[in-house]
Amino acid sequence: MLVLEQHWRLAAACRSVEPDIFFPLSSSGRSLDQIDRAKEVCAGCRVRAECLAFALRTNQVHGVWGGLTEEERLSLARDALRASASAKSHAAVPGAVSGQSVIFP
Ligand code: SF4
Repeated sequence: MLVLEQHWRLAAACRSVEPDIFFPLSSSGRSLDQIDRAKEVCAGCRVRAECLAFALRTNQVHGVWGGLTEEERLSLARDALRASASAKSHAAVPGAVSGQSVIFP
């Protein structure tokens, strides 16, 4: 369910959770436990999609948003860029979209 942009934070499952677990100091040691706990909260959050979309749209660099760490969001964004670039390059080849064979001179 999509929630209006200005209201999604009101339904966030993390509103009643210690905020530090969403912003661990590193990606090792005790921080790994914090990340796991944050992801458990996110897994049950009904505005997870809105949260992740916000984080990606506003380039949130730190913390767990939408159940993903900064490294996971970066990887997701890179995959999306590659897919977009690939779709554009295929669309630029006549016949590629329709699946027709293309013979180059
Ligand atoms: S997805 Fe996680 S970080 Fe985002 S609002 Fe929900 S609980 Fe908070």
